[in-house]
Amino acid sequence: MSNKLSIAVIGLGLIGGSILKALRTMNYHLIAVSGREETLLKAKDLKIADEYSNDFNILKNADVVIICTPIYTITETIDKASKVVSNSCIITDVASIKGFIVEHVNKFSKPVKFIGGHPMAGTEHKGIENSFKDLFLDAKWVLTPSKWVDNNDINILRQIIIDLGAKAIIADPVEHDKAVALISHLPLLISQSLFKTVEEYPDKNIRQLALSIASSGFRDTTRLAASNPELSKDMLLLNKNNVLESSLFFEEAIESMKKNFDLDENEFFDFISELALDRAKLYSKDGKNTYD
Ligand code: NAP
Repeated sequence: MSNKLSIAVIGLGLIGGSILKALRTMNYHLIAVSGREETLLKAKDLKIADEYSNDFNILKNADVVIICTPIYTITETIDKASKVVSNSCIITDVASIKGFIVEHVNKFSKPVKFIGGHPMAGTEHKGIENSFKDLFLDAKWVLTPSKWVDNNDINILRQIIIDLGAKAIIADPVEHDKAVALISHLPLLISQSLFKTVEEYPDKNIRQLALSIASSGFRDTTRLAASNPELSKDMLLLNKNNVLESSLFFEEAIESMKKNFDLDENEFFDFISELALDRAKLYSKDGKNTYD
């Protein structure tokens, strides 16, 4: 038996594929698990793991299991995996919503070493063919531990996250869901709404002209509208209450921004200059979040 830590990744899409690619050159034994045979064959072609299977029994000897399936499948996948793994195995996930998942595990009648996880990195694409090893470089990775784990378990996972190039941030799952509503799910809703505003603009000539000259500003602000619809659906519907609450603050913000049009020109300039400066400070030139 090898003394390498054995890591199983379930769900070989954008995130699962990227995790395996990033860990491939490290000292880990890697197991790739997927639902469809077709995806498993693609993973084999890419040689991203040491073992491949769509049978959960392969998880028996895993030290860490990382669940990278769609959000609505996470709780049933934890249930299935926890029936197979050893008592010492750490199970984590990467789902963009954490509250209902950690709540589910905390209600288990016996311990399951589950730590919720959410890498703050991604793209609008899906599937193993779009995965890449540098996806998590310099990203934050939120961890929301369940009641069944201790610091030692968290530190094992923290080291894997460091090896992926990211930085672990511990958070409360309910607070995580409110925060991602603000910085991820509300922006998705706004991006979709902005695209719809132009696509449904009543004057056909203006609409067609606008779409034909739309350049980088419109491309950047509507990028999220082109996201994987399965993931977008889950993010908006499974975090609906937080999205609705944050959208109220957005509506207030847009009303107050419009009122600023009545300021005198210098005051208006100062106001938007300060905003531009604060926004510029949040990201480095290469687009990394600099807030600590
Ligand atoms: P994805 O590219 O569509 O990959 C999902 C994978 O899960 C697919 O390969 C699919 O396998 C597999 N799968 C689906 N149901 C399964 C099941 N019951 N058992 C085993 N495998 C199953 O999606 P993704 O973007 O990687 O998202 C996966 C997770 O990452 C989600 O929970 C999401 O919230 C989280 N996340 C995504 C992003 C992002 O920007 N994309 C960022 C952070 C976190 P088949 O190919 O065999 O159908």
